[in-house]
Amino acid sequence: MKSHSVYLHIPFCRHLCSYCDFNTYAGLEEHIPAYIQALCTEIEFVAEYCEQQIPVHTIFIGGGTPSILPVREFGKIFQTISRVFDIQEHVEITIEANPGRLSYGYLKSLRDLGINRLSLGMQSAIPEELRLLDRQHDNYRTEKAVNDARRAGFGNINLDLIFGIPDQTPLSWQMTMDLALSLNPDHFSLYSLSIEPGTPLNDWLGEGLISEPDSDIAAEMYELAEARLHEHGYQQYEISNWARKGDGLGLMSCQHNLQYWRNLPYLGFGAGAHGYAGENRTVNVSRPDRYIEKLLSSEVDSSQNDISYPSTPATTRVTVISQAEEIKETMMMGLRLTGEGISRREFHSRFGTSLEEVYGGEIEELLGLGLLEWDQVTSERLRLTPKGRLLGNQVFQRFI
Ligand code: SF4
Repeated sequence: MKSHSVYLHIPFCRHLCSYCDFNTYAGLEEHIPAYIQALCTEIEFVAEYCEQQIPVHTIFIGGGTPSILPVREFGKIFQTISRVFDIQEHVEITIEANPGRLSYGYLKSLRDLGINRLSLGMQSAIPEELRLLDRQHDNYRTEKAVNDARRAGFGNINLDLIFGIPDQTPLSWQMTMDLALSLNPDHFSLYSLSIEPGTPLNDWLGEGLISEPDSDIAAEMYELAEARLHEHGYQQYEISNWARKGDGLGLMSCQHNLQYWRNLPYLGFGAGAHGYAGENRTVNVSRPDRYIEKLLSSEVDSSQNDISYPSTPATTRVTVISQAEEIKETMMMGLRLTGEGISRREFHSRFGTSLEEVYGGEIEELLGLGLLEWDQVTSERLRLTPKGRLLGNQVFQRFI
């Protein structure tokens, strides 16, 4: 059986940021113990209904704010996971955290539990930008979180940064990059702000209180970041992600996210979590109270005989993925990988047909537009050009 990744969703935050449209809720912390019990029940359900013990090489605890959980709740999760899955020797275990409330003691406890990668939502170093985004931390807390994490033994730290914030300038972005680089993280994820319906930021935009981010300035910031990160020895491996070389000189890429971009199987547990396993894409019920009810109510016991892997009592949608769809998804996600791209050989061995047979016309056209290129040494890998990275959506549309 192929090795899987595991995603665990923790849908709780102390406070909602102004741009956030993730599946997360403030003020529901009292439900945390029941939620973790439900999460462990869901994990056990999948393990029990799968014929073999599933090999797992990455675990990602995302949210929400997973660092809102008391350490004992992580203990329960890891006891369950290590009992039911076949955890691989060099498993990568990531936790997302907000810099605001982390302490050395808390980080050390997480590290002792085996969590070995920390992803911090720094977002910006400019106080006005952090205020606009309604983030609950400042630069002192970010620097302290990174230093405490290093002392606690985290050898793999990611910083998330946002560009394209209203009224952000190339100069303020440069200042954010400078502070972030001075913290010497192992990995960067840079996101272009997208203002989503239903968020306070969208309301403020509608009321004329803030101005629409300028896409040309955002593109300038992206190019500036590419140059700065390159100067500092970080290598881009995905449209929004950069990593530096580790001690073994391999790139410290996020192995969990690589599983998504390579369109390989992962199990998603928790409210609103998505999964992709056994040729099915699954989606769970979004609200934490409904999730708890579905997994812990007695009615589940009587009806669960009808539910089979990879579905669980919390699954609300299952989509069977045909080979044609799998090919499209593999192209869309694989082309995000700026170095690796799509391998001709791997494509053929996975789908039994060649890249040119399926997409000859589209590839020729995109090569002609300067948006795609074959790697120069072997012509084995098809990938985005620097121009293609800026216009990624135009490329991906051709493969839908
Ligand atoms: S911390 Fe993250 S998940 Fe929570 S509200 Fe802010 S952006 Fe959303």
